[in-house]
Amino acid sequence: MQDYRRGIKVLHTACVAQTVAAYELNKVLHASPPEVDAAEKELPRESRAFLAQLRSGYCKRLNYWRKRVSVSVDNVCPECEQSPHDVHHFFNCPEKPMDLTPRDLWDRPRERWCSSWMLD
Ligand SMILES: [Zn+2]
Repeated sequence: MQDYRRGIKVLHTACVAQTVAAYELNKVLHASPPEVDAAEKELPRESRAFLAQLRSGYCKRLNYWRKRVSVSVDNVCPECEQSPHDVHHFFNCPEKPMDLTPRDLWDRPRERWCSSWMLD
C-alpha cells in the first residue's frame, strides 16, 4: 500500500512540474511570475482583485481592457491622453508618477499603488 501511495505521489509531482513548466509567460513581466507576497491576504477583496487584474494585464479600470469590450471607449489614458492605456502605462504615466515597478505587484502588494486607484 505504501509503494502504491509513493507511486501516486511521484506521478502527481511529475504532472504538476510538467504543467507549471508549460505555463505561458506572464504578459506583464514577460517571465514566469513569482509567488505573490503573503501580505496581500491582509488586503480587502476589492484591492486584491485590482492587483490580480494588473498582474494579468487585463484590468477593468484601464482603457486597454475597456476598449476590448466596448467600441465606444478610446484606448487612451484619461490623465495624459497617451495610448495605449495599459498596465505598462499605469507604471509610467507622466501625470501619475510612481516609484513602483510591475514586479512590485507580486513583491509589494501592500504598497499604496496610487491613491485615486485604490479603493480602501
Ligand atoms: Zn497617462
